[in-house]
Amino acid sequence: MRYINIHTHKLNIHENTFEIYNKKITENFTKQHFSSGLHPWFITEKNIQTEFQILKTDLNNKHCIALGEIGLDKLTNTSFEIQKEVFKKQLELNKKIKKPVIIHCVKSFQEIIQITKKYDYSFIIHGYNKKQELANQLLKNGFYLSFGKQLLSKENLQQVFKNTPINKLFLETDDAKISIKKIYNIAAEIKNIPLESLLLALQNNFKTVFYESELVRTNRTFN
Ligand SMILES: [Zn+2]
Repeated sequence: MRYINIHTHKLNIHENTFEIYNKKITENFTKQHFSSGLHPWFITEKNIQTEFQILKTDLNNKHCIALGEIGLDKLTNTSFEIQKEVFKKQLELNKKIKKPVIIHCVKSFQEIIQITKKYDYSFIIHGYNKKQELANQLLKNGFYLSFGKQLLSKENLQQVFKNTPINKLFLETDDAKISIKKIYNIAAEIKNIPLESLLLALQNNFKTVFYESELVRTNRTFN
């Protein structure tokens, strides 16, 4: 059974692992499954036209299985108004193809919930590390939650993870130097279930979310 790493910035191909590599928008990359999107940290007026062109091409690439990471961040220098505009524009671009969306969110959850409401794509909040109450609200609004290395050390986050329904979960390494297997092991312990059950559950989540896209369905490399 395979470990699914829903979001990573490190290009390593591990045995028994299916990884979604988050490519830099200008990086020329089509070798394996990837996600592509304009991250709020790196929005610059000078490059934006070109980057939207690249994103359009990427979204038509069969190896590009998700839009992301995209989102809103109140702690970065980019103007929040511009972030919202760019975020919305990317969601609009996804209208025909409806790829699952990997969300980066810092202190902007209410805005994310509001803006994404009118789209029927699957949304995954990556690197979730907030409180139970917010997790409940996100789950109620149909979001999936992906957890990463903070599961290893934050006790209250472990509790949130434990309470999250298994059919709404993903795991990821993001930019951490840690193996996805280690995260799965701790996650299975927290859930108090065998590793095999966790692997199976997350594979099913993957299928539910990603096979909705025709491009993924016709791509035979995941199995
Ligand atoms: Zn990331």
